[in-house]
Amino acid sequence: MRRYIVTLGMAAIWLLALGAYAAGGRVHAEMGRQGWFYYLAHDEPMLPELGSFLSDDDLWHAYYSGCLFPDWGYAAGGVNRDAGEDCHWREFLDRYFEVLRAKYPPPWDHETKRHIAFFFGAVTHDLTDLPWHFNEGANVAFENRGHLEDVKPNADLDSVCHLFTQADYGTLPGLQGTIWFPRDDLLEAFAKRGKNVPPDQLEAGRRLLSAASIGTAAFGSLAYWHNKMIYPWTHQHYEDYYYGGVQHGAALSAMCIRYWYARLQNWSCLQDMPDYSCKPPGYVAHAPCRDSSIGSALPDNNAGVEPLLDVSRDDTGNERRSLLHFTLDNVPSAAKVVSAKLWLFFAGWRDSGSEKETVIEAYAVNRTWNAGSGVTNAVNGVGGRAALDGETTWKTPWQMPGCDGPGDDRDVAPAASTPISPADRAGCWKAWDITALVQRWIDKPASNNGILLRLGTPTGEATFISSEAFKSREDDYCGGTRIEQRPMLIVRIAS
Ligand SMILES: [Zn+2]
Repeated sequence: MRRYIVTLGMAAIWLLALGAYAAGGRVHAEMGRQGWFYYLAHDEPMLPELGSFLSDDDLWHAYYSGCLFPDWGYAAGGVNRDAGEDCHWREFLDRYFEVLRAKYPPPWDHETKRHIAFFFGAVTHDLTDLPWHFNEGANVAFENRGHLEDVKPNADLDSVCHLFTQADYGTLPGLQGTIWFPRDDLLEAFAKRGKNVPPDQLEAGRRLLSAASIGTAAFGSLAYWHNKMIYPWTHQHYEDYYYGGVQHGAALSAMCIRYWYARLQNWSCLQDMPDYSCKPPGYVAHAPCRDSSIGSALPDNNAGVEPLLDVSRDDTGNERRSLLHFTLDNVPSAAKVVSAKLWLFFAGWRDSGSEKETVIEAYAVNRTWNAGSGVTNAVNGVGGRAALDGETTWKTPWQMPGCDGPGDDRDVAPAASTPISPADRAGCWKAWDITALVQRWIDKPASNNGILLRLGTPTGEATFISSEAFKSREDDYCGGTRIEQRPMLIVRIAS
């Protein structure tokens, strides 16, 4: 009992001391949990063995421990605030990744997977902290919006949401009082960053986070009802608010884990991450894709920043096509490609009755083009606005309109064709196998001018999510999960 009271006291201290710097441990773990359940668990066809990576309780425990880890340095008023802050940022993740790459080359056994699962958790914590805490242009971070809606500045909404998540979703099995740290990996990563972290200090931070994870469940039940009354907006929207809520964090977690999982395998998962440019010390978005659709009915328009890409031809011959270009980041120059697939998220049929067998062909483009910045509507826009100088359109920069000059604008034959069938519902991924084409780009980088998507049937239509998509509704409560559906090129190479 005495021990229990001590633990509750530590939890209270943790909540007070830590809150200003973290979205709240349980919130981070919930974002990570949902990212896995809603997205990664279904990703087996894209990234083999990722969906089944967390195959038992030990691995989940390691992952959740990683979701909490980055706040170790802030525990109890600051065990090591400098190193604690440093491990929240990209430079640290890059060094940490180097440690793992050197120590644990694939294939991985169970013990090794624990170390990697922990890293995935740390990645999700770091990225999801950004839209929670930092405004980005017109996007107001969750924390700041909560301050506007519910309370005066300086209320500790991180701790409040930690309590909400704990009560709404329960404590995480296996995570109560026993957070695991892969001590040597972390010390090596901190050393590479030039941070002095004595092992005892790291252990002190681990114990404080562990104590908080056991204490808050009991500590929180009264506080839950109290906080719900005084922070109604925060309680209602800590999950669906975009910019920065739990649902967005889950989608973001999935994207980041795909990216790092691929890199640990020596593969590449190329997909545009949201542009969180907050500083210091800086975060650089991984943004390898440029895309745009072009249309014969709006031949002078550019649609480079519209959230949707479409490919269609109607009975009157009006046609739309889409262009995508991926920079082959992280793909070694002499790589032998085992598999390269373009994955697009099918956004659905325009209206009921328009479902029909539709084939979408993917061609290599043979001319450079500029995706441009045309946008009309961040939720539903497709057609773009009048092109600025140099931006791609139905007419520009092609020899024949619509990137249709065989040989000149594009290859004569498609690299891949994929059917969309009337049975396909909105919300499924479609893939084009462009293995040979990506090998050609690796062998001759100057030949990488991207892909043209064009209809292979006389009529039909399909709409896909673009690399600029983020909101699915105009209001601020759409969850911001569309980011996860942006186009992906997944390249697997021979080891
Ligand atoms: Zn944090």
